[in-house]
Formats: sequence, structure tokens, C-alpha cells
Amino acid sequence: MLRHPDPEVLVVGAGPVGLVAALCLQRQGVRTEIIDMHRLAHQHSYALALHPRTLRILEEAGLSEAVIGAGRKLTKVAYYEGRERHAEIDYSALASEHPYLLVLRQSLLERAAEAALHQHGLEVRWGHRLQSLNAAAVPPQAEVAQLDQVASGYPVAHTEWVVARSETARPAYVIGADGYDSAVRRMAGIEMEEHGAGTVVSVFEVEAAGELPGEVRVMLDADTTSVYWPLEEGRCRWGFQIADAAGHEASMERLEQLIAARAPWCTARPTRIYWSTLALFATRVARSFGTGGVWLAGDAAHQAAPVGVHSMNSGLVEGRELAARMTQALRGGAGPGRLQEFASETRQAWQRLVGAEREVGALPGASAWVREARTRIVACVPASGDDLEPLLRQVGLTLAS
Ligand SMILES: Cc1cc2nc3c(=O)[nH]c(=O)nc-3n(C[C@H](O)[C@H](O)[C@H](O)COP(=O)(O)OP(=O)(O)OC[C@H]3O[C@@H](n4cnc5c(N)ncnc54)[C@H](O)[C@@H]3O)c2cc1C
Repeated sequence: MLRHPDPEVLVVGAGPVGLVAALCLQRQGVRTEIIDMHRLAHQHSYALALHPRTLRILEEAGLSEAVIGAGRKLTKVAYYEGRERHAEIDYSALASEHPYLLVLRQSLLERAAEAALHQHGLEVRWGHRLQSLNAAAVPPQAEVAQLDQVASGYPVAHTEWVVARSETARPAYVIGADGYDSAVRRMAGIEMEEHGAGTVVSVFEVEAAGELPGEVRVMLDADTTSVYWPLEEGRCRWGFQIADAAGHEASMERLEQLIAARAPWCTARPTRIYWSTLALFATRVARSFGTGGVWLAGDAAHQAAPVGVHSMNSGLVEGRELAARMTQALRGGAGPGRLQEFASETRQAWQRLVGAEREVGALPGASAWVREARTRIVACVPASGDDLEPLLRQVGLTLAS
């Protein structure tokens, strides 16, 4: 069960966001617990790029060495329609200690963060689920259940999860980093605000023969947005937006068809599909990022279409910000107003990124194609914070009003 009878902060969810938030807290000497209802860690290679701003955060958390060495640095993202290259952004022009995009599988980031947590003396409580949360209580009351797997059934045996025991914690703060179906968010009564219908994506991770471009390529046609990510030598990831789930088929034939239609510039031939899946990305933002003792970060608070890798990258920044402000509040250095400030600023930034009211300006030199596609391009720039505007300006766009 929990290590501390009275943790100062309980982090719910040990995905990338929860792990980094817990690491920042633990490094500051805050009594932290981190729980996750699953037992198998680091299964996913889903989100696969870290923004320059995120790399600065990971550096502060002591993770940059493990992470940067394991990833692939890319400096260019190009925007295509058919064979035509219409625009490109170049990260090497950024005034940043990390003027590049780091391609790194989510599972590797999680592994590095969990190893660093271990070095700092904190273990993730895997197989522990948040059962209930009284968010209005001061401090909040969180019931945590330890899950055990039992075998039952005859003549057909099966295994199921049962609650072995449970415990109530009263931490000063709870961070809900528990993903898109966040129990913390639901239990705190926070609703999501939807922005559009969401994006259905057919994802393929493949081995290919022939020359694979060493840059990210975003393909925008009239109705769909697709993306190509180079991975390690000879390997790449495709994400093709499709109309609905019926359009997904994890076969070589379907993959070749999609490449021919959306990426006619690709001369490499897929030789093996490592994995393929159908993913649905909603575009939504929580009406509030928290209040009192309960706060949200990452997919628990927002989701967006995948090309910009915004949800995980912003989530990592949010986890670090919450950890810093909670530490200050716990040590008497700042009032809880700093958390509220964080919540409203972060929500505003998300509204600007995905909200219907976002305004994207075109600068005088912007091409007709860029002008036409401008709101779609903004969602497809893998960058955040202060880095976003200078990169957008390279293609003739601006978010500044
Ligand atoms: C197939 C696929 C492809 C993807 N590709 C991309 C991409 O290309 N670009 C991109 O930006 N994003 C992508 N994503 C999304 C990306 O994986 C998420 O943005 C990222 O994982 C969010 O991290 P997180 O830490 O906020 O939440 P998560 O990684 O979802 O972690 C939440 C954790 O909370 C735990 N949890 C949930 N409820 C409870 C509870 N009640 N008690 C205890 N623990 C709980 C879960 O077990 C989970 O481990 C993809 C996702 C999928 C599924």
C-alpha cells in the first residue's frame, strides 16, 4: 500500500506526465506518492516527439542525459499536399538550448523517468487505483485500492482484478495525471469542453527499404491531415487521418494504398508492419484545471489531434509547474493563488491552440496555400510556449493579435 501514511502530494497516474510531476516533487523533498491502476509499465510508444521547451523542463528534472542520448534530433518539419512541398519550418533557427525536435518513444521517456524516481527513493505503486475522491474536503480525501489478480471460473478459467485492500489518504494536494478518462476529473466534477468532432487516425509503424526522409512531413489535403515520422534507421511511423473506423485495415495493401494517395513523394517501400492501430483523438479542454487541493495535468485536462504532440508535451510542462507551485505553497513560499494563476493561464493557452475562437494571422509574405491552411498548420507545429511564434513566423503565420 502507500509508503507514507500522510503524503503531501498524491499523483494519480504514472504515464509520462504523472512520472515527471512526481520526479519534480520528490527532488524538492516533498512527501510524494504516485499510483497507477495498471501493472505493466511502459508498454506504449505512442507519442513520439519532445518539443524544445519540454527538453528544457526535462533538463531541470535531471532527465536530459538519459533522454537526449536515446532520441533522434530532427530540425525540419515540412508541409506537403500531394508531391508539392508548400512550407517548412527549421528548428535550428530557434534561440533555444535545444534547437531541434527530439524523436523519442513515449515508453523510453517513461522508463527514464521511473528509473530517476527510483534513484530518488520513490517507487510507483503499480496496481493501485483511485477508488473515490472527496475533492471538496480540506484536505482532499482519496481512497486508494490495491488490486490483486485472482483466477476463477470452471470449466473455463479466467483471471480478474479484485480489490485486495484499500486505504484513505489525506494529501494536501492531488495531481490528476490519469489520462483521457481521468477519474480525478470526473470525481472532482470537472467537465470537458469539446472543440469539434475529433480525429480518427490509422497508425502504422513500419520497416522500409529505400531512402526515408530525415524530417517530419505533414500531408494536408482537402479533407485529411497525415504525418510521417522518421524513427531509427530504416523505420518510420505513419499516421493517416481517415473518415471513420471502417477505413482502418492493418494490412500492407492498405498501407501501400494510403502512401500512394497521400505521400506520392515517398520512394521507400514498406517491407514489414511492426504494429498498427486505430486511434481516436478528441479535441477538448477541461472547463477548469482544478481548484483547492485537486489539479489536473496532461490528457486528464486536454486532448488534441496528434501531429503537434501537444497534449503530452504541454502535460509535461503542466506537471512540472504544478509540482513547483505546490512545493512553494507547502513550504510557505507562496499562496495557493499561484496554482489558480497557473490553471487560468494554461487553460487560456489551450483555448488559443484548439479553441474555435483562435485567430491565426497571415504575414505579408505568406503564400496562398499557407493562408488557406493556416488554422490546420498551427495545430500541426510540434512546438509550444515561446517557441511556437518564431516557428510559425517562418511560414508567414502569427498567433499574436
Ligand atoms: C495509439 C496511440 C497513438 C498516439 N500517438 C500520439 C501522437 O502521435 N502524438 C501525441 O501527441 N499523442 C499521441 N498519443 C497520445 C499520448 O499517448 C498521450 O497524450 C499521453 O500518453 C498522455 O500522457 P498522460 O501522462 O497525460 O496520460 P497517460 O499516458 O494516459 O497516463 C495516465 C495513467 O493513469 C492511469 N490511471 C487512469 N485512471 C486511474 C485511476 N483511477 N487510478 C490510478 N491510475 C489511473 C493509467 O493506467 C495510465 O497509466 C497516442 C495515443 C495512442 C493511444
